[in-house]
Amino acid sequence: KAAAGGQGTRRATLEDKMKLIDGVDCFIFDCDGVIWRGDSVIEGVPETLDMLRALGKKLVFVTNNSTKSRKGYLGKFTSLGLNINAEEIYSSSYAAAAYLDSIKFDRSKKVYVIGETGILEELDLKGIKYLGGPGDGQKVVNLKPGEYMEHDEDVAAVIVGFDRYINYYKIQYATLCIRENPGCMFIATNRDAVTHLTDAQEWAGNGSMVGAIVGSTKREPHVVGKPSGFMLQNIAEQFNLKPEQICMVGDRLDTDILFGQNGGLTTCLVLSGVTTEEQLLSPSNEVHPDLYMSQLSDLLAAKQT
Ligand code: PLP
Ligand code: CA
Repeated sequence: KAAAGGQGTRRATLEDKMKLIDGVDCFIFDCDGVIWRGDSVIEGVPETLDMLRALGKKLVFVTNNSTKSRKGYLGKFTSLGLNINAEEIYSSSYAAAAYLDSIKFDRSKKVYVIGETGILEELDLKGIKYLGGPGDGQKVVNLKPGEYMEHDEDVAAVIVGFDRYINYYKIQYATLCIRENPGCMFIATNRDAVTHLTDAQEWAGNGSMVGAIVGSTKREPHVVGKPSGFMLQNIAEQFNLKPEQICMVGDRLDTDILFGQNGGLTTCLVLSGVTTEEQLLSPSNEVHPDLYMSQLSDLLAAKQT
């Protein structure tokens, strides 16, 4: 490993930071909690990205938030004053469409989507037909005896992403697609238990929506976002990188750090997001990054010496 020399989790020293920067060619950054918090860029991030680019490092931005497409995220980066190339962004919305493309999804079939426009835009780009999306659903109350919900038998995959418009119709529709067709795939963009829609509290994450379909179908989903390795394979191929050349920087132990560890990457936790130092160092925590820092801009110290 490039950084900690296998000494376990510790706050990065200046030497660690210098070794880390020298030792890897690519940084994969989680977005919320590392680059931004909600809609504000985290202090010192633009300067840190500039420094790493000036050193010739490849930078990649990975998010489990499926509500936007890569194009949508490009707009967000630009509006935050960050100059990023489209091919440096990997969202779980893209991962879902890229996964179906990678397994040569039959274009005469369709996907049923629980999720927002990010997934729909990415499916469009891959030429994959779909039903569902944020506007789907009608009242399913006061059912009369014998009432029956039809579903399209051409649905060969169900994708479940974060959907603030989820309703009982969508749950029943997705359940029918999966239950009535044993060959129908069940894909989850991510299973984050909570998200930070506002900084005032934790909100139910996509794990709750995936859980609804697991509960009704007794099937487990194929997860394409972190911590699964699907996006890492894409990144490694596209940039021609080996795991030992990459450092994963994230704020979450059970998605970001696990993703890095599963892929054999150097891992660095930042405390600018959802994980506190107390949680990280608690005896009940089982996920140990190689290093941790308060925030990404701590790396700037390595430049000034
Ligand atoms: N999913 C949703 C709906 C979110 O709002 C967020 C964070 O804001 C995430 C997932 C996690 O995103 P990231 O992987 O960038 O931390
Ligand atoms: Ca995060």
